[in-house]
Amino acid sequence: MSLKKKNSLLGTFAFRLTLWYAILFVLSLIIIFFISYKILVASLVHVVDRELSAATDKIDKEFLSQGLDQVKLDIREGIEEEGTNRIFYRMLTPQLNIVVTSDPLKWPCLNFPILSRWASMAAEGQAGFHTLSPRDRPYQIRILSQWVDEGRYVVQIGRPMKDEEELAKIYSKVFLGSVFILLLCGIILSWIEAQKSMKGVRRITSTAWNIGQGDIKRRVALGNEGEEIEDLAETFNYMLDRIEQLMTGLKEVTDNIAHDLRTPLTRIRGLAESTLGKKDIEQYRESVGTIVEECDRLAQMINTMLEMAEADAGLKKPDQASIDVVALARQGYEIFLPVAQDKGISLEFKGPLHPIVVLADASRLQRVIANLLDNAIKFTESRGSIRLEVREDKGEAVILVKDTGIGIAEDSQARIFEKFYRVESSRSTPGHGLGLSFVKSMVLSMGGSISVESSPAQGSSFIVKIPLQQFSKITKM
Ligand code: ADP
Repeated sequence: MSLKKKNSLLGTFAFRLTLWYAILFVLSLIIIFFISYKILVASLVHVVDRELSAATDKIDKEFLSQGLDQVKLDIREGIEEEGTNRIFYRMLTPQLNIVVTSDPLKWPCLNFPILSRWASMAAEGQAGFHTLSPRDRPYQIRILSQWVDEGRYVVQIGRPMKDEEELAKIYSKVFLGSVFILLLCGIILSWIEAQKSMKGVRRITSTAWNIGQGDIKRRVALGNEGEEIEDLAETFNYMLDRIEQLMTGLKEVTDNIAHDLRTPLTRIRGLAESTLGKKDIEQYRESVGTIVEECDRLAQMINTMLEMAEADAGLKKPDQASIDVVALARQGYEIFLPVAQDKGISLEFKGPLHPIVVLADASRLQRVIANLLDNAIKFTESRGSIRLEVREDKGEAVILVKDTGIGIAEDSQARIFEKFYRVESSRSTPGHGLGLSFVKSMVLSMGGSISVESSPAQGSSFIVKIPLQQFSKITKM
């Protein structure tokens, strides 16, 4: 595998993240702009409408107080006051005969037929505001058509929306300008943020790459790019620790196998060589028998080591079932009783009448008990005693193997669970120093623990604890 440097910016996660931020940002601003623009235009139109209504109401009131001539005069004055281009007025009879009007030369829209249609509608009582977009003017004109003097006349007042439209245009320019600046800042900020988060990912990638090159000791440095990246880095480091641990374990096993198998192999070779020189068929048979025994022991040793390596690495799942530890221990006691008796040792079993159920691999647990009993018998003189006890304590099944044997010195107690470790004084007894390390591996694979309490010349107690299983489906043994 090679770590290719990809130059395409478009393909990076940081770019995609920034792009998505930008798209979302622009979309939401477009929506905000659209809504606010509509609200602004509607309120501006509303203000113009109020102005037009006030003007027609004033005319209507003047009819009551001052009569037609005065109204006509006032309208003319009003036109002059406002400026001929600012506003147009016209007053018509319901038959659409013009009574008074602004200059149609200045307001060509006054000739539009649609204006007369709105006037007739107003004469029928359907007063209303309309917006006209004349071709001769760049702005729209807002027009109110309404009858006055109790329906005797119709008044039409129009006002160009020049100021309002200019205001709306300024608003659009300012808004869009701000959007552009905000968008630019947003893109820069999200790009910086995305780059920052990706820094952690790049660190992990580079560490993985270095490990791939053989530097198994490398770890990802922790940063502050955010919880997810930190979690990823920590999990990655944990995984590397675990791999390193497994590799070291595997290397140790391989080294030990290479080292510790050399001795028995040399012995077997020596035996085979001396057998070659034997003339007597009986001696010959005896030597070959010893060679076979040594080979069996060697094979058993290799198997035990492989089994431990598998259990430690968690490669082989144990055949878990509900096991009654009391029945299993009693079975072990029955098997070892004749061996203990042969050596003049009293072996006693103590356990409750009810089952104590754990979830475990029956064959592994059997071998744990057998190894502990075997050691107890091996390291106890005749007339000594051994007690195998099973009890329940704080949610755990406790298996105790207590002997009155030679005991173990304090400095050796921590080391007896190491592979191939044997206390100096017990080197004359048969064994490979694998029994207790095997027991420890098996107990740990069942989620349990093992400890030892011992004093030299007084005896030793090995205590195995395995978590209880709360439901009791007991396998037949
Ligand atoms: P082995 O029994 O094959 O030597 P083990 O791993 O079972 O290997 O035991 C390691 C060492 O621990 C033994 O060599 C012995 O010195 C010591 N040991 C184990 N069990 C006992 C015991 N019950 N009493 C005294 N010493 C013990």
